[in-house]
Amino acid sequence: MIQSIQTTLDTLLKDHAEHLDTRAILIDHDAISRAPEVLKAHFDTTSPWLLVVDENTWNVAGEKLSQELDKQDISWSKFALSDHPDHPHPVCDDNTIAQLKDHLTSHTFGAVIAVGSGTINDVVKKATSLIDTPCACVATAPSMNGFTSKIAAVLSKGVKTTIPAQAPLVVIADLDVMMESPERMIASGLGDLISKPVSNADWQLSALLNDTFHSEEAMVVIELGAKMLDNVAPTLQHKDPNAMAGLLGSLMVSGLAMSIAGSSSPASGGEHLISHYMDMTGYAHLLPFDFHGCQVGVGTLTTALFYEKLFAMDPASIDIDAAKARLASWDEHDALLKERFGVLHHAVREHAINAYPSEEDIERRLGRLQQNWDEVKTKVSRTLRTSDSIEQELRAAHGPVRFSDLGLTRERATEAVVYSKDIRNRYTILHLVWELGLLEQWADEALEKLF
Ligand SMILES: [Zn+2]
Repeated sequence: MIQSIQTTLDTLLKDHAEHLDTRAILIDHDAISRAPEVLKAHFDTTSPWLLVVDENTWNVAGEKLSQELDKQDISWSKFALSDHPDHPHPVCDDNTIAQLKDHLTSHTFGAVIAVGSGTINDVVKKATSLIDTPCACVATAPSMNGFTSKIAAVLSKGVKTTIPAQAPLVVIADLDVMMESPERMIASGLGDLISKPVSNADWQLSALLNDTFHSEEAMVVIELGAKMLDNVAPTLQHKDPNAMAGLLGSLMVSGLAMSIAGSSSPASGGEHLISHYMDMTGYAHLLPFDFHGCQVGVGTLTTALFYEKLFAMDPASIDIDAAKARLASWDEHDALLKERFGVLHHAVREHAINAYPSEEDIERRLGRLQQNWDEVKTKVSRTLRTSDSIEQELRAAHGPVRFSDLGLTRERATEAVVYSKDIRNRYTILHLVWELGLLEQWADEALEKLF
């Protein structure tokens, strides 16, 4: 099983090399011992290597990696990211990226290695891409799918956004380290991947209603990643190396698919906006939030329910004139955004203004939906799963399945579902349901079940 996943990854890296930064991925037992050998094939050993860590990732994997480098006489130094002023851990924000970039420009390193997962990998991906130097990642938890993607999730001016970055040249995931990860981080990895059925549906929906780009090449790759997750959930928390390799393989493939598609669209739709809203408001107002993938999992249950409601509708009931009449002017909407987002308004506004529809946009989208209902339903449903089946899989892996499990109040959960469409210019089911005038009602109905 582990070997077949490795073989699939090796083949993908070779077949899609033109779209990818990543040249090697190693998922195995005791992979950190083999890390120097794999890394040496891609990085210069005449200058010291920099290990970018935090206190936790140093203990989990960084120290062991440094010992392996010592054995090979590869000199190294350590750069510990500082904690966010309000939180006991680092955050991938503009400031942290600038700190690492400054350190990189004032020294010469043969390799810059992120020893971490979401945050540290994103900081390293972005900072090294700013100065055009390659990087690597030694993973410390299977918590999200960004290891091999060419984007970084950054809290920029308070808004959680994904921006272009380079992917690591080499990614190493040591199964023995991964299996010791906290249960919640393992569940987060599954949650991030389980969005696929609905994020792909959003991607297809936008292509059909807006003529946005959609890639069959990426879809084929995504399906390979989905297969690796078959039957993984029930034993994921039982220190089963095959299940863990399946999760990791699928996380790596998901990142590669984003690189092949040239955007995060294949793996990030409305469910990610719901999660990003929790992060943004969590940081801005010191409110609770959870691991990215845990939030994405609950967001996915919400948007999967929305698709069920959408396709249960009678297309004849879509009233396009009423939808156009409901559309407020941008100034009126902007005033509403100010009320909703407070200190984050200015930053959100930049994204919302680009996404705000005209009457023609609404007429085109809802007209196409109504006229091509069967085609849209068939194509969008190709990847969809029911909310109930997704919930069962999350539960099997001990993942959170309710907004209350994430520490949110009912009011903030409603806001996450209703407000989050304005934080990014990418058409999703949340936008469609809003254009249909049903977003608040459906959010209430979904939360009856999911709070
Ligand atoms: Zn994600």
